[in-house]
Amino acid sequence: MSECLFCRIVAKEVPARLVFADDRAVAIRDINPQAPTHLLVIPRKHIPTLLDLADDDASLMGHLQLVAAKLAREEKLEERGFRVVINCGEGAGQSVFHVHVHLLGGRPMRWPPG
Ligand code: 5GP
Ligand code: ZN
Repeated sequence: MSECLFCRIVAKEVPARLVFADDRAVAIRDINPQAPTHLLVIPRKHIPTLLDLADDDASLMGHLQLVAAKLAREEKLEERGFRVVINCGEGAGQSVFHVHVHLLGGRPMRWPPG
C-alpha cells in the first residue's frame, strides 16, 4: 500500500469528496478549506513536487490547469475571479508531497499571498 495520501485517495483507499475524475487526474474538495470553494486537482501519477517534473509531464500539468478552469466555471467563479496555486516545498506550505493544484475562490483574494 502506498505511503502517499494522495496516491491512496486516487486509489480510493482513503475517502474524499470527488468532484472530477478522468484517466489522468482526479479533483476533490479540500478537507480544510481556505475559501468557500477549495478544490485540489491531483494527477493519478505520483510526482512529489514541481521540481520533480520531467519534460514528458508537460501535457499532464497543462491538463491539470484545464481541469481547474473547467471546475472554476462549474463553481461559477468566472466573474469574481479565483486563484490557482501550486505550493512547492515546506517553506511554501506544501504538506502533501504529491504534486497538486489548488483552486480557491468565492472570497476576495489578497496579493501578495501570505
Ligand atoms: P499543500 O499544503 O501540500 O499545498 O496542500 C495539501 C492540501 O491537502 C491541504 O490544503 C490540506 O488541507 C489537504 N488535505 C490534507 N489531507 C487531506 C485529506 O485527507 N483529504 C482531503 N480532501 N484534503 C486533505
Ligand atoms: Zn502520491
